[in-house]
Amino acid sequence: MKAVCWTGINDVRVEEVPDPKLINPRDAIIRVSSTAICGSDLHLYDGYIPAMKKGDILGHEFMGEIVEVGSGVKNLNLGDRVVVPFPIACGNCFFCQSGQWSLCDNSNPNARMAETMFGHAPAGIFGYSHLMGGYAGGQAEYVRVPFADVGPFRIENGFRDEQVLFLTDIFPTGYMAAEQANIRPGDTVAVWGCGPVGQFVIQSAWMFNAARVIAIDRYPERLNMAEKYGRAEVINYDGIDVVETLKQMTGGMGPDVCIDAVGLEAHKDGVEGFYDRAKQAARLEMDRPYVLRECIQACRKGGTVSLAGAYGSFVDKVPIGAAFNKGLTLKMGQTHVHRYLKPLFELIESGQIDPSFIVTHIFPLEEAPDAYEIFKHKTDGCVKVVMKP
Ligand SMILES: [Zn+2]
Ligand SMILES: [Zn+2]
Repeated sequence: MKAVCWTGINDVRVEEVPDPKLINPRDAIIRVSSTAICGSDLHLYDGYIPAMKKGDILGHEFMGEIVEVGSGVKNLNLGDRVVVPFPIACGNCFFCQSGQWSLCDNSNPNARMAETMFGHAPAGIFGYSHLMGGYAGGQAEYVRVPFADVGPFRIENGFRDEQVLFLTDIFPTGYMAAEQANIRPGDTVAVWGCGPVGQFVIQSAWMFNAARVIAIDRYPERLNMAEKYGRAEVINYDGIDVVETLKQMTGGMGPDVCIDAVGLEAHKDGVEGFYDRAKQAARLEMDRPYVLRECIQACRKGGTVSLAGAYGSFVDKVPIGAAFNKGLTLKMGQTHVHRYLKPLFELIESGQIDPSFIVTHIFPLEEAPDAYEIFKHKTDGCVKVVMKP
């Protein structure tokens, strides 16, 4: 089959690889109908996530048709159309049983490696480095799905792929970032990053009855999308002091809730940007936490900072003193996608949201190298890319 393989930093190639096979009774094989490129795929593309190997198949946002099931999968039939959550979860362990699916204890065969870095191992993730299990991803014609009796969610009623594909990650990720931020009616919610996750954070903030949503980015097409589809007030952060601007917009209080939908590859000019880039280049710091710093500085006393953008390792100069003395709550984590599939699908079904608004580009899988470049550089107004095998 054809698959998108990581072949080095800034280098992906569509290669001919062996078809996946059932390995365990609870596996299924899916013929992929649509797969998306995620901002966190760029962390791999750009070389910021450790433990990638040449030839690894990328992709954790995918859907398709069941073409093979193991003997242990009783709830899926050949021909079923499913979306697949990006974290892999067993359904039986302490964490799965308590709904913390992305913390599953049984899906990461490289747990030892992750324990060295994190203390404990998170769940396996499709197409996301050997630290997260080294599973082949779904930017391919076929993919093996472990614990297929737990993860895949059946889609009926004829929705287009683009309407349901984002249940695999970015819609639940945006929703969980808003949910865990404890938004109360009347709150002002500031969202850093109007990329795909940020757009779903904005949508979700309204679902929790925010009174105002302020969105921050520097790309006009993303800010336009935040205004048009998200009804957000927008700030283009180029050349301005975001913390000061947010204070002015909120009568000096600061936003009640600050959500980081950017993560480890945040952008900043000036001295602070130079400092983190230099440390990152010297491997003294792996992640660039500008947005995290701004969220903590901007948030009103007693407010909540919620992280939706991914962090992978270490950050420097996080103003923990500000967070402590302002009594902030910090919330974060990989999304427990399994928990949100049904309720968020119901929002799509009832017409409350149509996630396809996010899609700006559709490519055949063969053109993955171009798709990655356009998505990375945000050229041609690119916000979200879907690929079709
Ligand atoms: Zn993703
Ligand atoms: Zn589990």
